[in-house]
Amino acid sequence: MRQFVFILFLFTSVFISTAAETNYVCIVCGKGPLAGQVWLHPRGPICDECEKLENRCSLCGLPVRAGDGSVKTGDGRFICRFDKPNAVLDAAAARDVFENTRQDVVDLYGRGFLLKYPDVTVNLFDVDYWSEKGRDNGLDKYGFASTRKTPAGECTHEVVLLSGRLRNEMISTAAHEYTHLWINENCPSNHVIDSDTVEAIKGLRQRRLHKAFLRYHDPENWPVLRDALRAMGRADLIGPGSNHLVPATQPAAGGGRRRPEPTSSRGLKFTTKGVRPR
Ligand SMILES: [Zn+2]
Ligand SMILES: [Zn+2]
Repeated sequence: MRQFVFILFLFTSVFISTAAETNYVCIVCGKGPLAGQVWLHPRGPICDECEKLENRCSLCGLPVRAGDGSVKTGDGRFICRFDKPNAVLDAAAARDVFENTRQDVVDLYGRGFLLKYPDVTVNLFDVDYWSEKGRDNGLDKYGFASTRKTPAGECTHEVVLLSGRLRNEMISTAAHEYTHLWINENCPSNHVIDSDTVEAIKGLRQRRLHKAFLRYHDPENWPVLRDALRAMGRADLIGPGSNHLVPATQPAAGGGRRRPEPTSSRGLKFTTKGVRPR
């Protein structure tokens, strides 16, 4: 609930007019032209009556009312009619986002980024997920990944993503969690790491390494990645081909990226903040 309050604070409408009559039409109830107190939300003008509505879109803060095309999620969030077409509300849609994202990642960066054990279970979680665990994490975590590994090194992967987010935002989380799976799969069983590494990389060195993996196309990160891959027993991923993650040598001064910028319309670009929407 604390997260709801925070979001609403960010998207509070601004009072803009007390004119006898304006050209504005309320984007919530359709009433207009509006007179008296008029409020402006980033999506458009709102009448005074709608501004007083308690229920708000969890994505943009727009007031919502019954019958206006908004939807209520199982855990009590509302999503307005503007955001509804782009919101991921069921597990099938989340799986679609994840599978498309992983395909894009492999298309763009090469087969070295394929999972050896490709089956990934994709599920959604919501606020109730945390409530049932007696925690109030709410909406401040967008996803997590876990990998079960047998002594023989066989892996079973799962990714869980926060429901009710915009598809474009979920793409960046899916790419992030996919990278976790790849790291989990390629981390040798005798490599001791913190128990929380499944969900988050903690510690400065691990954080830097995690960032380097996410930006492994940047030559600046190649030295640390070479060291990490050798330590992981994956020196086979160092080399010049499309099956390799990083080259064996640094480019000459002023040298460019190892791979050209994507030209495909399906292309995605990694940044430390995620992946650009298509
Ligand atoms: Zn209204
Ligand atoms: Zn909205």
